[in-house]
Amino acid sequence: MQDLTVIPATNAALPDAPKRLQHWIGGGWVDSADGATSERRSPAHGVPVSVAAKGGAAEAGAAIAAARAAFDAGHWSRSSGKDRATLLLKVADLIDRDRDAIARQEVLESGKPITQALAEIEGAADLWRYAAALARTMHGDSHNSLGPDMLGLVLKEPIGVVSLITPWNFPFLIISQKLPFALAAGCTAVVKPSELTPGTTVMLGHLLQEAGLPAGVCNIVLGYGDPVGEILSSDPRIDMVSFTGSTGVGKRISAAASATLKKVSLELGGKNPQVVFPDADLDAAADAIAFGVYFNAGECCNSGSRIIVHEDVAEALVAKVAALSRRVPFGEPLDPRTQVGAIISPEHLAKIDGYVRGAVAAGARVALGGAALEVGGLGAQFYQPTIVTGVTPDMPIAREEVFGPVLSVLTFRDFDEAIALANGAAYGLSAGVWSRDVSTCLDFARRVQAGTVWTNTWMDGFAELPFGGFKESGQGRELGRYGLEEFLEVKTVQMRIGATRGAWVA
Ligand code: NAD
Repeated sequence: MQDLTVIPATNAALPDAPKRLQHWIGGGWVDSADGATSERRSPAHGVPVSVAAKGGAAEAGAAIAAARAAFDAGHWSRSSGKDRATLLLKVADLIDRDRDAIARQEVLESGKPITQALAEIEGAADLWRYAAALARTMHGDSHNSLGPDMLGLVLKEPIGVVSLITPWNFPFLIISQKLPFALAAGCTAVVKPSELTPGTTVMLGHLLQEAGLPAGVCNIVLGYGDPVGEILSSDPRIDMVSFTGSTGVGKRISAAASATLKKVSLELGGKNPQVVFPDADLDAAADAIAFGVYFNAGECCNSGSRIIVHEDVAEALVAKVAALSRRVPFGEPLDPRTQVGAIISPEHLAKIDGYVRGAVAAGARVALGGAALEVGGLGAQFYQPTIVTGVTPDMPIAREEVFGPVLSVLTFRDFDEAIALANGAAYGLSAGVWSRDVSTCLDFARRVQAGTVWTNTWMDGFAELPFGGFKESGQGRELGRYGLEEFLEVKTVQMRIGATRGAWVA
């Protein structure tokens, strides 16, 4: 260990008993018909923190039937924007009320730091409020220039029953990027959280019930991709699948949905470059690079895991990032000082380590970290802040999602080479550029293949601005008005309002 800042275990009380989690189907809370459950242990503390009903075909089928019946009955899908907004605002207030409890469960199941979890829950409440505003302001178009006898209307309608399938890295935030927008549109939903982090999605279900959401409008089925996720991606009663997760599973979902031509919206992985030009403010860039790669222990689709730095400033920049990396407090996620918590599972930790070992075997060098670390009193599910230099574009560590606190450093000589390296991955989620010259920033923003581009900053996010990926990072957009449009169908109404139409048959 190289002078890292480690936060040891605190005396914070852990739960006496794991949280019991049930499915929410047709307005009722139920166990699985066969009684199956799955247990989740805290990645940082090793103790059981939730025991969730483990769904199968029976639960998935019942939830889909309930969502279909609720949609077709129309009491939500044909309700007014005002009524939908009122409910969404109530949910936001309830999230604020229960922020501490939701954040704590998130920490216990995911290993992320408590201060970060609290900020995520606060951000999620803001998304429910933003979606409420959209519910009242969405509208279609009218065409009054089609001649004296015609009026054209373009109506926006809810697409129908949607499956919302979410990952483990930001469980509450990501369902809040989907569900309030789907509900604002008038859709009904079947939600499947990750089997690793089901707790806070169930807590959200209880808040929806308390806010008065009609039975069956939202349903939650707990369980694994096989069979629950697969059924939610293929059942003919589902109209759309909105998925956030890995690119591999996204491709499977797309294939499963194609048999019934469901709409599919995919938020997938990333291998996001930050390109640093020689005229950049290196101190500001170094801090944003540390944030970009260590935030959420690097288990982040937006992880800035690939630095592409001009060779003239590479050494200076790496030295600054390494110095900051030693100061990033990691360890006990329940301690408010901690900024980097535990890795989600031992298998994932081994995968992260494998990328580092592979890069070293191929000729790269570890400038900092590069191994797991036992944190005082907390066990071994932590990985040191790691910097790997001498990375070449062909190495898996430069092309694939490591999903850990591991920074790869590549260098460039001119603008075109920087763009070629930035665009050289199969992914296209986000990208960043550091330069004091606004023309350099603008040229980069226009030529890089990414759904979001940050100039002289990293990973800011706003409810108003759409988010999504180019290439294998996905299709469709969340947030902003585009996030609502995803859940809407477009219907054209052509009205003859004057003289009768001329006869076709003479
Ligand atoms: P994952 O793809 O393994 O699982 C995501 C969800 O899909 C889980 O609920 C899982 O149970 C379910 N699932 C698994 N197999 C399925 C199948 N065959 N059919 C339907 N559902 C199935 O992803 P993960 O490991 O939970 O999350 C990490 C991944 O998510 C990373 O690749 C990350 O980049 C990505 N991610 C992307 C964004 C974004 O907005 N672009 C945000 C967060 C995470």
